[in-house]
Amino acid sequence: MIDLRSMLPEELERYFQELGQPRFRAMQVFRWLHRGVESFDEMTDLPRALRERLGEDCVLTVPRVERRQVSKLDGTIKYLWRLGDGNCVETVLMRYKHGNTVCVSSQVGCNMGCVFCASTLGGKVRDLAPSEILAQVIFTKKDSGAEISNIVMMGIGEPLDNFDAVLRFLELVNHPEGLNIGMRHISLSTCGLVKQIDKLAGLGLQLTLSVSLHAPEDETRTRLMPVNRAVGVDLLMDTCRRYFETTGRRISYEYAMADGVNDSDEQADRLAALLRGQPGHVNLIPLNEVAESPLRPSRRVRQFQKRLESHGVTATVRRRLGGDIDASCGQLRRRRIAEGETHTPEEGST
Ligand code: SAH
Repeated sequence: MIDLRSMLPEELERYFQELGQPRFRAMQVFRWLHRGVESFDEMTDLPRALRERLGEDCVLTVPRVERRQVSKLDGTIKYLWRLGDGNCVETVLMRYKHGNTVCVSSQVGCNMGCVFCASTLGGKVRDLAPSEILAQVIFTKKDSGAEISNIVMMGIGEPLDNFDAVLRFLELVNHPEGLNIGMRHISLSTCGLVKQIDKLAGLGLQLTLSVSLHAPEDETRTRLMPVNRAVGVDLLMDTCRRYFETTGRRISYEYAMADGVNDSDEQADRLAALLRGQPGHVNLIPLNEVAESPLRPSRRVRQFQKRLESHGVTATVRRRLGGDIDASCGQLRRRRIAEGETHTPEEGST
């Protein structure tokens, strides 16, 4: 079966050519796909015979809303989608003054094993197809009625561990005949896979790369993020420097702050020293609680921020949205957690 929503316009052209169809069919179908059709019959300007043929050859990736939760605090919406094979992933719609942002997942589960993150519990089940990443944006937009101006690849999964599918997703979502989201409105967050960061740099995309740093020294970083065993802070920072030199794009460093683990003044000093000589920006994330993790939120976020600023490092504190529905960083899961644990039942809403 052909995964139609994963296809680029030139691939659709080739396919329709094989079917003996006129060239313009490709763009006609591309537009329908990106507008969120759920069946071939909705493509009303296609001849019936062609719609039937598509029905035989192709699948239309249509995730179903398994659960929709709306934050009473700030209107954030969290979707749990059921995919074609029964697996689930989450997507979050956040509303900011400067526009709506969708946070998408790139894998079912995650293999990276960061100790503070719910998405990695149980490991990775599989990668998402480009259509399954794209469909999160299309159907979040369709279901909520919200215009989407920004995308962050900060949901479940390590995007650079699903490199080809993620790149294709970027091409699709950026396409002028599709959702037309500019690269400068897209952020991609990685735990720091250096080979893939180099590969990404070579493509010269104008997206914002966010790197999950979380500690300035190997000992602490390895304790928080097992991936650090293979890479290490020095190699990661060298790679980041190269990324900036190649692309001219400043990196945003994420730093989730855990009580007594990575929030001391000495660590702020070390972090500032690491960033010396490269224009970067630190985004401090007050740790969000995950029931399975022993780590607690830091009480020193503002002091840490001031300390960084005293060294001339710009640091912002990430706002916490969707706090009442577990929609914040590190809280997304590929399944419902057992009823009666820390969770309130769903709040259906339209
Ligand atoms: N796999 C990507 C995307 C992860 S989600 C990555 O590792 O960067 C985006 C950010 O949320 C990452 O910086 C991640 O480390 C952070 N995060 C994960 N769990 C968190 C938690 N419990 N509290 C705060 N931030 C968390």
